[in-house]
Amino acid sequence: MTTDWTRGVVVVGGGAAGMIAAHTAAMRGVPTLLLEKKNRLGTKILISGGGKCNVAHAGPMEEVRARFRPNEARFLQPSFYRFTNDDFIRMLSNKGMETYTRPDGRIFPVAPADAKDVVSVLEAHLSEAGVRIRLEAAVTEIETTGGGVSGVLLASGDRIETRCLIVAAGGSSYPATGTTGDGWRWLEALGHHLVPLRAALAPLYLEPTPPAEWSGVALRDCLLRARRINADNTPGKELMRWRGDLLWTHKGLSGPTALGVSREVAETIPEQSGVEVDLLPGEPFEALRERLLEQTKAFPRRSVADFIEQIVPNRLVKPVFDTAQVEPTVKGAYLGAKERSRLVQTLKGWSLGRVRHVPLERGEVVAGGVTLSEVDPRTMRSQRVRGLYLCGEVLDIAGPVGGYNLQAAWSTGFVAGEAAAKEQEGSASSPDKTAGFASSRFG
Ligand SMILES: Cc1cc2nc3c(=O)[nH]c(=O)nc-3n(C[C@H](O)[C@H](O)[C@H](O)COP(=O)(O)OP(=O)(O)OC[C@H]3O[C@@H](n4cnc5c(N)ncnc54)[C@H](O)[C@@H]3O)c2cc1C
Repeated sequence: MTTDWTRGVVVVGGGAAGMIAAHTAAMRGVPTLLLEKKNRLGTKILISGGGKCNVAHAGPMEEVRARFRPNEARFLQPSFYRFTNDDFIRMLSNKGMETYTRPDGRIFPVAPADAKDVVSVLEAHLSEAGVRIRLEAAVTEIETTGGGVSGVLLASGDRIETRCLIVAAGGSSYPATGTTGDGWRWLEALGHHLVPLRAALAPLYLEPTPPAEWSGVALRDCLLRARRINADNTPGKELMRWRGDLLWTHKGLSGPTALGVSREVAETIPEQSGVEVDLLPGEPFEALRERLLEQTKAFPRRSVADFIEQIVPNRLVKPVFDTAQVEPTVKGAYLGAKERSRLVQTLKGWSLGRVRHVPLERGEVVAGGVTLSEVDPRTMRSQRVRGLYLCGEVLDIAGPVGGYNLQAAWSTGFVAGEAAAKEQEGSASSPDKTAGFASSRFG
């Protein structure tokens, strides 16, 4: 069956960027059709922020933008000013959802509201704007004629004719959420170039695998450093450092610090990198050595392990002593200067092993994607194909943990929806919008 949507906008992908794009286009009175492969919208949003959804990052957009790599930050400038963190929070509060900002700037819905409610709010906006939503509608191909978009083909065999298409099909991590890199295949076939895909915000798998009993152990406020490993096995150049929490898993490391260094590790040869942790990043080496000396003098009969236990979780006390080659039962009075230095060295730079793998499919985002120089940052319009707009993670954008990636999806989605609607304005008719409003779903 062929559906004529030549007087409207078609959006592929009902995730963060696609929902905002569709809403924005429809709000400008242009008939808008949203095609989503899964049987519901926003599947990735549902698992974001551990189900709590870190919707955005607080602060001036200039500061939010500055957390991206320079070329990404430049590209994001127009869209970040066009649709800000406050604009998105307003969309939530218009539907009664309150948010709060954590001390680190991350914005979340106020509990009991969570990621599910964020998706419900967006669905309510889509319905109000009259967006037609077609679920379980997997696009398989984009058709072009004479250098411009002419339609899309669905897995069902249906064809939708359109001259204005927004691709918001996301990346390729967590493929069960619907993101299997489809957008990249079509866009490459249409002449776009891809920056090589790499894991970002992903866990690190280590060699050797950590002992099973460490799995689930967490460190609060530590500093994780990723380093290159030299050919002679000595630690080399630092690749990246990240301060925050760290979590051991059965395969290696996760938590904000591991995710924070993962992109730089994935960009080198991961197996030639290693990670080390500073357990007390706020205390210089000398100060810690002094504190340990004072402690052993003040409590000569007390076990040094008592002191270490105040710094590391129980399950890691013995491994710290083993790494420092110090007897775990040693009493303060018997701790020699060299042993003390080795303990402090371990606390300030404990080598956790070599990175075996950074799994792309387990990343919160994928770095790489459509090269930014082929897309107009003021409109998200493709500079390769007429009538084509790109937004969200299909683009070569990957921000840090903290609400930055959803912000990039909201902002680029908004600009794409606005520009696509402008292109179609004139051919749109308001009765279509009213009909869409009355029945916002079909298929
Ligand atoms: C575990 C996890 C936690 C995260 N937590 C946070 C967080 O707290 N804060 C934050 O800022 N970011 C977070 N992120 C990142 C954030 O979710 C993404 O950056 C964001 O969802 C990207 O938006 P998008 O619209 O480009 O892609 P997506 O939201 O992934 O949407 C793409 C949509 O396109 C659909 N689609 C794909 N192919 C087709 C096709 N062929 N036909 C039709 N539809 C198709 C998919 O089914 C999907 O619904 C997290 C990511 C993960 C995986």
